[in-house]
Amino acid sequence: MREVDMLARDGGRAAVEGLRAADLRHYLHPFTDSRALAAEGGTRIITRAHGPYIWDAEGRKTLDAMAGLWCVNVGYGRQELAAAAHEQMLELPYYNSFFKTTTPPTVRLAERLAALTPEGLNHVFFADSGSEANDTIVRMVRHYWALEGQPERRVIISREYAYHGSTMVAASLSGSHMHSQGGLPLPDFDHIAPPYWYGRGRDMDPAAFGRSAAQALEAKILELGAGRVAAFIGEPIQGSGGMIIPPDTYWPEIQRICREYDILLIVDEVITGFGRTGRWFASEHYDLKADLMSLAKGLSSGYIPISAVMVGDRVAHTLIEKGGEFFHGFTYSGHPVACAVALENLRIIEAEDLVGNAAHTGIYLQGRLQELADHPLVGEVRGIGLLGAIELVQDKERGEFFSPQGEVGTRCRDHCFQNGLVMRAVRDTMIISPPLIFTPAHVDELMEKARLALDLTARDLA
Ligand code: PLP
Repeated sequence: MREVDMLARDGGRAAVEGLRAADLRHYLHPFTDSRALAAEGGTRIITRAHGPYIWDAEGRKTLDAMAGLWCVNVGYGRQELAAAAHEQMLELPYYNSFFKTTTPPTVRLAERLAALTPEGLNHVFFADSGSEANDTIVRMVRHYWALEGQPERRVIISREYAYHGSTMVAASLSGSHMHSQGGLPLPDFDHIAPPYWYGRGRDMDPAAFGRSAAQALEAKILELGAGRVAAFIGEPIQGSGGMIIPPDTYWPEIQRICREYDILLIVDEVITGFGRTGRWFASEHYDLKADLMSLAKGLSSGYIPISAVMVGDRVAHTLIEKGGEFFHGFTYSGHPVACAVALENLRIIEAEDLVGNAAHTGIYLQGRLQELADHPLVGEVRGIGLLGAIELVQDKERGEFFSPQGEVGTRCRDHCFQNGLVMRAVRDTMIISPPLIFTPAHVDELMEKARLALDLTARDLA
């Protein structure tokens, strides 16, 4: 009998408890305090999913307003993606692209991504996760500058509250919340403040704050010495850092500075890519001209691990014409099954106009989110497309944050979970990033449950 059927059987409680105990005995969860998890009695076991809903082993149905980890763009239960994997596994389950070989889906996906992504990004390097994509980019950037005769250009400048992944390099690119363990950041990674108007800039008007936040890059370049700086990396909108949407003045100024000091611009679209903001890529909102771009998550809607580095013409030209062999790659780079699934996923996004849906339903979501602004716990709501954030504060009038930050957000997240909703908490900011198949009815359900969770949280604090 399949494990999932055993769990679903009448009286399957023993099976569930057995699985939960085995989980505690053997599985070290990512980003988890294992001791605290054990003290709470263990984990919630998710057994199946459909559309925007997940079900746990106890049969509870939950609206997943986080699309897993910002990734299940086409929603759960897509037969077409299972069929694409099945067919490709039977045809050719694996072959690599190391030794002058390739496979048809790998080539087709590279071709498709070159057509889909913003102009000038015409070459692709495949990896398996967002972290690996960003590692790859750092290696490419350093190789590029060495080939251009400027090997001393090694420093990559990133931002506080950034999240670019968990490998040593990707965690170094991330903000200082990732640096307390493991001797990070590695040398030659530096950081500037984020364009977080609500948290850092309310004494200024947003446009002036956006410009000044960008000018921190120029100050950092001058402090380090322009000849040492290789690149700047940023998410168009900082997701895991708390849904930080920069003022419109921010990116033009960042791009001006990159051009002026001849610094490469790396855009991390791991969250924002593939329709999340109501455009295929958030770069389109800000007219970003990336030299390199990282993609993952929505590329396969999370059905299978795959990521991609889009390489702009300037860097690709140097790597190809002067680079010789690039000593970098993964066993699963361009994996044919992952590429076949990604191709089918992109076909679905296009055929069902899920990017358009993210824009339209996004307008409805943003409108309804505004209704929460009157809640006593809510300092600000913000969002774009199918991304939303609800900032919880201690003093609404003065916009004072809770201290320490994070406890109230976690409490609210737990109330959501207990009442059939997944929202994520970043510090005390509640995050919404649902599948792109969301309808206005799903938004209504989300809002009802979100308000209940806010009320329960406020009641706890009273
Ligand atoms: N970049 C961004 C913007 C992310 O949000 C994430 C993951 O959440 C990553 C990179 C790392 O991706 P992965 O978890 O696939 O390594």
